[in-house]
Amino acid sequence: MKNLFEESKRYIPGGVNSPVRAFGSVGGEPIFIDRGKGSKIYDVDGKEYIDYVCSWGPLIHGHADDDIITEVERVLKKGTTFGAPTVLELELAKKVVEMVPSIEMVRMVSSGTEAVMSAIRLARGYTGRDKIIKFEGCYHGHSDSLLVKAGSGALTFGQPSSPGVPADLAKHTLIADYNDLNSVKQLFINNKNQIACVIVEPVAGNMGVVLPEEGFLSGLRDLCSNEGALLIFDEVITGFRLAPGGAQEYFNVMPDITTLGKILGGGLPVGAYGGRKEIMEKISPLGPVYQAGTLSGNPLAMAAGIANLNKLNENFYYELRKKSQYLWNGFKNNCRELKLNYAFNEIESMSCMFFTERPVKSFKDALTSDTKKYAAFFHGMLKKGINLAPSQFEAMFVSAAHTNKDLDATIKAHYEVLKELT
Ligand SMILES: *Cc1c(COP(=O)(O)O)cnc(C)c1O
Repeated sequence: MKNLFEESKRYIPGGVNSPVRAFGSVGGEPIFIDRGKGSKIYDVDGKEYIDYVCSWGPLIHGHADDDIITEVERVLKKGTTFGAPTVLELELAKKVVEMVPSIEMVRMVSSGTEAVMSAIRLARGYTGRDKIIKFEGCYHGHSDSLLVKAGSGALTFGQPSSPGVPADLAKHTLIADYNDLNSVKQLFINNKNQIACVIVEPVAGNMGVVLPEEGFLSGLRDLCSNEGALLIFDEVITGFRLAPGGAQEYFNVMPDITTLGKILGGGLPVGAYGGRKEIMEKISPLGPVYQAGTLSGNPLAMAAGIANLNKLNENFYYELRKKSQYLWNGFKNNCRELKLNYAFNEIESMSCMFFTERPVKSFKDALTSDTKKYAAFFHGMLKKGINLAPSQFEAMFVSAAHTNKDLDATIKAHYEVLKELT
């Protein structure tokens, strides 16, 4: 396996096609995966792992789900892409509109990044305003307007968080603090009638897992409505994860535009953005806001998405919640027994244990985590055959494929590894 990574590094920057896969924040070398089935993945040396990364969220039914594979195989034989409408696109669009409460019309794209980038353009085109508000610690893909961090002092312009993002563009992105409505209010006051939209992960899943406090999401809703700005929920993780209708259904707060990805594609590359008809009608060819894609609505991806969503019903979420609660309670009991006061945030089938004793309600709180300790924990778990995200600031996902035996083995490993660390 060592040789594979060395060789990959000669041909692919850092040996990977997405940075966090390189194990940069935990050290060591990534495992190369040969195959997956259900809750398990197998590396190229044949070692088995119980997987809680689940491809960073999409695999809510686990790996190589039989129903999804059957559908993709059936469609595959009819051709992989046409660049013309298919019934599959219609079927998935109808399904999304039926499931996600605030979506009346939806446009398919090929990744979450693309969905968010397009949603931001739509919000700007619709409102005729350039500025947007995002929250520190929320991730919305790698498009220019969103690779922006706070400048010094909350009232300054956003600054590029990557070379290659023009400062002239980044200055239109304003940064607020998650769970701090006042920071958003202040930005609205200082930029009267200039804010096109507020974009938020309704449950933050890219700084670990951080839950919205009571009144935060509804407060954003009110602020946006009063200021003529659009509210965008980036539900690329939470969509179909927290409930059939995502976080908006779970918290009963309706955004104007929703971005989707990950679970939507059932493990194939899909993103989507949708919202009220009156807003979505501004998109080309109906309206002036341009957005297109050669492989958008790809038949294989649509087939996987349909098969995936068809399996999500009330009972599915009930069972998934039961499993998740069992695992989260196991972790909490372990910590109690070991007298560890680590912050543990969970909601439905996603969670994060932060190696800090401070309750984590914001990015600043999350940053107090001991990432060295997380790295040791991660490697300890991996050695015991449990695959977690190679970074403290990511979610852990339970899928329907995880068995009680998997969960018990995971709770046991969690206890043993934590014990070794303390
Ligand atoms: C993963 C993610 C994205 C980006 O999706 P990609 O498919 O990786 O481009 C956007 N927003 C959120 C909240 C995500 O978790």
